[in-house]
Amino acid sequence: MDPALKAIEHKVEEGVPLSLADGLTLYRTPDIHTLGRMARAVKERKSGKKVFYVLNRYINSTNVCYAGCKFCSFAVDEFKEKERVVRMPADVVFEKALETGTNFNQVHIVGGHDPRQLSLDYWLPLMRRFKEALPHVQLSLFTAAEIEYMAKRHRLSFAALIAMLKEAGLDNVNGGGAEIFAEETRKKICPGKVNSENWLAIHEELHRQGVASNATMLYGQIESLEDRVDHLVRLRESQERSPGFNAFIPLAFHPDGNELNDCGWTTGLDDIRTFAVARLMLDNFDHIKAYWMIQGLKVCQVALQFGADDMDGTHGSTDEEMIYHSAGTQSGQFVDDRTFRALIEQAGYEPVRRNSTYEEFPHDWTPPERELIEA
Ligand code: SF4
Repeated sequence: MDPALKAIEHKVEEGVPLSLADGLTLYRTPDIHTLGRMARAVKERKSGKKVFYVLNRYINSTNVCYAGCKFCSFAVDEFKEKERVVRMPADVVFEKALETGTNFNQVHIVGGHDPRQLSLDYWLPLMRRFKEALPHVQLSLFTAAEIEYMAKRHRLSFAALIAMLKEAGLDNVNGGGAEIFAEETRKKICPGKVNSENWLAIHEELHRQGVASNATMLYGQIESLEDRVDHLVRLRESQERSPGFNAFIPLAFHPDGNELNDCGWTTGLDDIRTFAVARLMLDNFDHIKAYWMIQGLKVCQVALQFGADDMDGTHGSTDEEMIYHSAGTQSGQFVDDRTFRALIEQAGYEPVRRNSTYEEFPHDWTPPERELIEA
């Protein structure tokens, strides 16, 4: 065992939050096995043998965006690339969610900063329609970046906007837009989007109003290891101030078709190390999610031995994720729940179906008859 890990393991056992220096030691240790064992022990203390997944629908409602993030391969300039523009009318979003049935527990929608779509006129009626037709489905909508854009557009405070979204049925806000909080790096990669202070302020306000959320970190671009650990410490402190984050999701940078393509791809070891460091640093987060569409099913299965306890969503068989597929991900678009369950069981864990807020369902659960919409 790397002797540098001894003191850290002792702190973890005693429940003492790890410092920035501890995080760097975890990132730099050559002893990947002890790192994994420590992260796995924390995961099992929190969720035992359970590993979660959700049956969901995933929709990117628009790819028009004016934020100009350098790592992005998804955003489209509507004047220069008209043929690539996707801008779904509300009816299409609703119908798309139902294309392969109603037996799902979450609809997950994110998109670009599109002035024609990020408006309350578009979203409030659509959210109410979802809630009326599919009361068993939780709405996981937007990122903090989209919420900031919408607040500016309507000249509303974050608190006022969030109250309106909550009233219309918002259950959970997605973790995107966090990227990397360290200001100098953030200015280089995404100067046109929500700053770290506002990202955190929006999530803390969501939690105060009873809306759950997730958190992410984009790693493998130009950031330093110090930036990564600083990001995790800031998330932990935010969770302390205003609890409500359900899960942390490490997002590996994908280089195809964007301005940071010199950074290349992350490695398998960097991926699993990042899951383990996150599990150990974020002692006040219940869940660490290995999102198969980003690191791939095989790395995500290994991540279950390195502290992750969630594989995220199946997606519907007609869903079309565009953000990571534009950037070169080799993952498919859809995984059935049988495959998820087999991967989890092979890793030595018990698959558990959930919704956005981690309520548990039997794997063969179907919505009550009365809740199904008329065909
Ligand atoms: S990452 Fe999001 S906010 Fe940034 S350019 Fe792409 S779509 Fe726009």
